[in-house]
Amino acid sequence: MFLDRALVRLLPAVPKPVVQRFSSRYIAGSTLSDAVGVVRRLNAEGMLATIDVLGEEITHADEARAIARAYLDVFDAIERDGLDANVSVKLTSLGLKLSYDLCKENVLEVLAQGRFVRIDMEDSTTTDATLRLYRELRKAGHDNVGVVLQAYLRRTLDDVRALADLKPNVRLCKGIYVEPPSLAYRGADSVRTSFVQCLDTLLEAGAYVAVATHDEKLIAEALRRDVPELQMLLGVREDRARELVADGRRVRIYVPFGEQWYAYSLRRLQENPAMATTIARAAVGRALRL
Ligand SMILES: Cc1cc2nc3c(=O)[nH]c(=O)nc-3n(C[C@H](O)[C@H](O)[C@H](O)COP(=O)(O)OP(=O)(O)OC[C@H]3O[C@@H](n4cnc5c(N)ncnc54)[C@H](O)[C@@H]3O)c2cc1C
Repeated sequence: MFLDRALVRLLPAVPKPVVQRFSSRYIAGSTLSDAVGVVRRLNAEGMLATIDVLGEEITHADEARAIARAYLDVFDAIERDGLDANVSVKLTSLGLKLSYDLCKENVLEVLAQGRFVRIDMEDSTTTDATLRLYRELRKAGHDNVGVVLQAYLRRTLDDVRALADLKPNVRLCKGIYVEPPSLAYRGADSVRTSFVQCLDTLLEAGAYVAVATHDEKLIAEALRRDVPELQMLLGVREDRARELVADGRRVRIYVPFGEQWYAYSLRRLQENPAMATTIARAAVGRALRL
């Protein structure tokens, strides 16, 4: 276990081609047609999808605008191919770190298509801006937008209460970014306790809640409360997703695609310590061959 954790910390030092090989199960591919192929397959199996254009590593306004345009292409593909899918956006990929106004412009362009847009939640330096933008959009009458809340943050229960008047459409997840203990719960049980408290408070407020987890204990809590939607990540516990569909549950799979696969892939591999050992071995083997 200690070794696994040490290896997880070493992952950023592993050569990118090795990371790419091991993370391919989490990513639909580099092109929109790769994503369309995966969503078609998921739809045929009774699952819905949310499509994410990977791009959080952008550094220029032009790149952020290009990501917004890539979402318009995704909407065209959804329409043309009759896919049962919506989209998820990351505000940093739409320019949040460059300028709030640029990011808002880009989000408005994506929202103007009228389809549902989920705003992912990123690290804690972006939480205030993300919730501010969500509130401004809703105040301006955009109802085709949803947000994500992370149960590991100590602030989230307060955020849930503050959002209650909007009856928000929320994806509730544990949260994946590395945060200090002053901001985030660390223990598995305290994160679960916060998750269930947030879930109950959201449901009491009349929010639409999509529970995004592969954690069996939290799936059970969600099923007990008959939540309207469960969400999972592409490449993680797909058999469980199929079982939930067979039981008549609405299940949506997060389908990322694009050239900027690295940051997303690292996060997925870091959540999979067994995989970290295999990757470290592969990387060492590769280094010895060189
Ligand atoms: C649809 C969806 C959208 C998300 N959006 C966001 C977001 O906007 N912001 C954010 O911070 N986080 C997001 N996350 C990630 C989330 O916060 C968690 O980091 C992630 O879901 C792992 O937590 P878990 O609840 O599945 O529980 P864990 O305890 O991490 O996982 C439970 C079990 O699932 C399996 N598992 C989990 N991850 C993997 C993996 N990568 N590879 C193989 N097996 C795995 C393992 O068997 C593990 O024991 C999202 C997750 C989902 C499902």
